[in-house]
Amino acid sequence: MLAVVDNRSYARGVRYAEQHAVVRMHWDDPENARAGTVHGRDGDFYQPVAYFRELGGASLGFAKGKCDCPVSFNCEHVLTTMQEVKMMDEGNLFGAGLNAERIRELLT
Ligand SMILES: [Zn+2]
Repeated sequence: MLAVVDNRSYARGVRYAEQHAVVRMHWDDPENARAGTVHGRDGDFYQPVAYFRELGGASLGFAKGKCDCPVSFNCEHVLTTMQEVKMMDEGNLFGAGLNAERIRELLT
């Protein structure tokens, strides 16, 4: 994950999640996507979507994220939604990949 997003964005995403900037979340099952609404620092609301890919077996890994903010791709809002997921589970979502069933359980 840190290979596709720089550390500063990641740190900001973590901070956002800690401040509960995520307003709303839902899991789009057919798309393997996690969509959310995030309250940005500038006061605007953005709608990032984090996409996952099948890693084989029942595991999912982070694939890419897009957003309607000016950055638009793998931005801090996407990371915020990802961090929310991570905070709900001690497993490493970005490494070996969590069990897909487990992720869906957490996100429902
Ligand atoms: Zn964004």
